[in-house]
Amino acid sequence: MIEDCIFCKIAHQQMPTELLFQNDQMVVFRDIKPHAPVHWLIVPRKHIRSINDLQPEDGDLIAEMIATARDMAKKAGVNESGYKLLFNVEKGGGQVIFHLHLHLIGGWAKS
Ligand code: AMP
Ligand code: ZN
Repeated sequence: MIEDCIFCKIAHQQMPTELLFQNDQMVVFRDIKPHAPVHWLIVPRKHIRSINDLQPEDGDLIAEMIATARDMAKKAGVNESGYKLLFNVEKGGGQVIFHLHLHLIGGWAKS
């Protein structure tokens, strides 16, 4: 846990945030500034700065993050309509919170 990391604080229950899912490895909560009707964040409890910092031993964690995102998409009711999964990587890639997280985005009106 990194002291001044907001997602470490949320993942270790040091900042009150409604968790939509949690297990030993990760937490899921709503993005505070949603870009779509469903905009949830899948966040590992382990502090990893970005995709660039992944180590070989993090492979299972990444696989679990993606599987959790799939399950949460179903819970949000967007699995059939469709959704985006997004990692922003470093400043140029739009990352502003430097604790690894996967965006689950969906729920747009059907045209
Ligand atoms: P990124 O640009 O990939 O680093 O995304 C960080 C996301 O975290 C942004 O979409 C923010 O709106 C969101 N965010 C920042 N602080 C909080 C918070 N306290 N609770 C929920 N989401 C947050
Ligand atoms: Zn952190």
